[in-house]
Amino acid sequence: MFHSGTPEAYNLPMILQSASIVPVTEAEGPGRRFALWFQGCPLRCPGCCNPEYLPFQGGQSIAIADIVKQWKQSEIEGITLLGGEPFAHAEGAAALAREAQSLGLSVMVFTGYLREELEAKNDPATAVLLAATDILVDGPYERERPDTARRWIGSTNQRIHFLTPRYRADDPCWQKPNTLEIRVRGAEIVVNGFPAIPALGLWKGWKRKSGAES
Ligand code: SF4
Repeated sequence: MFHSGTPEAYNLPMILQSASIVPVTEAEGPGRRFALWFQGCPLRCPGCCNPEYLPFQGGQSIAIADIVKQWKQSEIEGITLLGGEPFAHAEGAAALAREAQSLGLSVMVFTGYLREELEAKNDPATAVLLAATDILVDGPYERERPDTARRWIGSTNQRIHFLTPRYRADDPCWQKPNTLEIRVRGAEIVVNGFPAIPALGLWKGWKRKSGAES
């Protein structure tokens, strides 16, 4: 747990609650990235694409040290934290982001909150997480406003904040088409990336065609 004092003085937690991990993806931000979805979100965006990640019960407890070991075994440019809501797990997310930062990895965070709401929270763990974030994508996902112009972004209301100089809005990578990744892990199908309805329809069609749908 964090202790009192300035954010820099806090001890970081050792464990966090994860709903899902994709060790290497190109569908959740610039370059090859480690992506982690937290288990638990207090928001209720209509059309949330990860309803199974909303309860704070479930998922799996994972040691941050084990995650760092995974990073060292793969060539990644950075990490992306998604929801569940990363800022509802601000201490664990901040710990992870700081570890990434110390290893030279970039940090991208998707949140259903607005940046202004987070900055007004006066919460030390939130401040640490913001300070360790290079790219913040904020605002609730709105299913009826799918974003087909900005890669990696779910809906047009969401804003991209470049909190450090590491990435820029005019980087050509943002103009490329959105992508969806589908992985088959034994009997499990893992889908990540563009959450729009047409993309999910494509995935369900693929499941039917492959006989994977139950
Ligand atoms: S913030 Fe994300 S996980 Fe939470 S309800 Fe909205 S879309 Fe779902």
